[in-house]
Amino acid sequence: PQLANQIAAGEVVERPASVVKELVENSLDAGASQIDIDIEKGGSKLIRIRDNGSGIAEQELVLALSRHATSKIGNLDDLAQITSLGFRGEALASISSVSRLTLTSKPAGQAAAWQAQAEGRDMAVTVKPAAHPDGTSIEVVDLFFNTPARRKFLRTDKTEFSHIDELIKRLALSRFDVSWQLNHNGQSVRRLPLANSDNARQKRVALLCGKAFAEQAAYIENSYGVMKLSGWILAPQACQSQPGCQYCYVNGRMMRDKLLNHAIRQAYGERLTAEQQPGFVLYLQITPAEVDVNVHPAKHEVRFHQARLVHDFVVSALSDALAQLAN
Ligand code: ADP
Ligand code: MG
Repeated sequence: PQLANQIAAGEVVERPASVVKELVENSLDAGASQIDIDIEKGGSKLIRIRDNGSGIAEQELVLALSRHATSKIGNLDDLAQITSLGFRGEALASISSVSRLTLTSKPAGQAAAWQAQAEGRDMAVTVKPAAHPDGTSIEVVDLFFNTPARRKFLRTDKTEFSHIDELIKRLALSRFDVSWQLNHNGQSVRRLPLANSDNARQKRVALLCGKAFAEQAAYIENSYGVMKLSGWILAPQACQSQPGCQYCYVNGRMMRDKLLNHAIRQAYGERLTAEQQPGFVLYLQITPAEVDVNVHPAKHEVRFHQARLVHDFVVSALSDALAQLAN
């Protein structure tokens, strides 16, 4: 199983940031409202994620570490309506096959915490009692220690960490209902308290996109039929030549979508010079039946069934807001 898992890991685990992505998505799926992340040496030495989510029961720990074991799909019909982020049941098995992974967890209703670790070629899982508050911690030590070819592809600690930081920034801008902490080599890099009020959300945007963005962006909210667009858009006169915050979310997922980017550019239109970059943090909510999110395996692309309609709605919602900002 180790070899099979390592091959699967080749698809899931490219670099430390992809490990962090999988683990954080599990924490979000578990309903966590607090996620603390410790990184050492860009993640190659240590990735530790602690959440206060629903936890994993003692008797489920072994299963959580085995391949194609997911608690998130009951039957094939569920596939059509996946709302959780992960569903292939591959991440933990893959990551533990290319690192020293320890899983410690305690569901709220369980008297004590338990810890699991898979080791060796047969990936035998050992389980023992541990101390842990309600929730889950996953420690990934020495990533790729047993796959030297993969380890060689890692860039500098600084670069690897910057990918992790970017990922957390992206997630923190879409999950204001979660408090985030990110540390690198024992230093606090991000400390983002829960942001459940308009004021607190504004503060978080200032922390993540900068004060200038927070002060010179207009908050918009606009709906049309099954679509709703909300978020912040930067006043044209405040747009700089280096790109600042440029984030688009569709139904809560970050997307790099051509159609949306095109619509945003069109809305700014003549208001920007060739050098100026738009700034935006936008959330499009649309009836799930109107989109396919699995066009691209990394799920950064989306296909809208009524592409023209979505495009024109975004252009008109943003043009209105920008026209007001320009006054
Ligand atoms: P998937 O997310 O695709 O189901 P994973 O390999 O990422 O598969 O995780 C396997 C299982 O372990 C999940 O289905 C879930 O039951 C459990 N799990 C993993 N991480 C957590 C967590 N942080 N909190 C609660 N359960 C978790
Ligand atoms: Mg998962």
